[in-house]
Amino acid sequence: KKKPLPKPKWMKESIPGGEKYTQIKRKLRELKLHTVCEEAKCPNLGECWSGGETGTATATIMILGDTCTRGCRFCNVKTSRTPPPPDPNEPSNVAEAIASWGLDYVVITSVDRDDLPDQGSSHFAETVQKLKILKPNMLVEALVPDFRGDAGCVEKVAKSGLEVFAHNIETVEELQREVRDHRANFEQSIDVLMMAKKYAPAGTLTKTSVMLGCGETPDQVLRTMEKVRAAGVDVITFGQYMRPSKRHMPVAEYITPEAFENYRALGMEMLHGIWQGFRYVASGPMVRSSYKAGEFYIKSMIE
Ligand code: SF4
Ligand code: SF4
Repeated sequence: KKKPLPKPKWMKESIPGGEKYTQIKRKLRELKLHTVCEEAKCPNLGECWSGGETGTATATIMILGDTCTRGCRFCNVKTSRTPPPPDPNEPSNVAEAIASWGLDYVVITSVDRDDLPDQGSSHFAETVQKLKILKPNMLVEALVPDFRGDAGCVEKVAKSGLEVFAHNIETVEELQREVRDHRANFEQSIDVLMMAKKYAPAGTLTKTSVMLGCGETPDQVLRTMEKVRAAGVDVITFGQYMRPSKRHMPVAEYITPEAFENYRALGMEMLHGIWQGFRYVASGPMVRSSYKAGEFYIKSMIE
């Protein structure tokens, strides 16, 4: 049996801080709102919540419960074929809580709900719509499941009033089966992103994320990037895969900060004529799909 790879020195955790962070944290306690940032003990919490150079505080919240109908090999979420039904009051409650919170950019995400007739898409759309009524200036990203490729589900969310429609392909095309649940695949995910672009109002961004260090080659990363960009996706992020426990897929490799920077630069460039660069690329060892999403969004709109 192979020993796990030692963690390199660049995988350091930053310490949360800043005035905005303290303010958000206090408010959060009052609202009884649960964030992925806190529950996953995300090392980027200080950076995201303080809002960085643009002062755009970002946080991620989860709807539709804590139990997923799928079981991806990298993921630490509880799994069941029959999770409890969603709380019908959740869209209103969550929208109110987020709206009254000192936040500028929210990522709303969920587990996969293959058990629900609409895969949870109405719940998503309702949460975004309610939030936008209460706080029209709040920037909203929905990070959604593949909805099994259902066009109606994608359309509902894409037209809910959000700024960013995100769906993660998670890994390169070649490693989909090894990494993701067997119900997920590359073509379906690309299809979801293309449908979102088609249905969403002009100016809405589409976004995806890839974990590196699962055993992919640099060439596979580039080809995946090309396909993603060719599907009209505006934003891509790359981060290091971190094994949540010994029961999960091992880390194949720790990608160096230089290699991450190289992918970022490549993604921003114009290559191959038709492949115009992404609007922004976040790439680094500690990057997660929602990493400083608000700050990057604002910067990419100014440029
Ligand atoms: Fe929260 Fe995502 Fe930022 Fe982590 S990277 S603190 S989960 S918004
Ligand atoms: Fe985790 Fe999402 Fe896979 Fe469910 S579908 S196991 S939440 S990564």
